[in-house]
Amino acid sequence: MKAGTNKTNKEWHAGHRMPKNATLAQRVAWHIEHAKHCGCRPMPDSIKQEIAKKGT
Ligand SMILES: [Zn+2]
Repeated sequence: MKAGTNKTNKEWHAGHRMPKNATLAQRVAWHIEHAKHCGCRPMPDSIKQEIAKKGT
């Protein structure tokens, strides 16, 4: 992981709001897209574990 890449992509966030009652599947999908477009915060371990389970 590189340092100094934790920049917030405000435009992406504006178009991709996480629903308040998001399901785990929605959260996983959101974080996968988020990681591609924005580095404001790291992916939570619980999300990483779900992705590892799916093998995607
Ligand atoms: Zn972000």
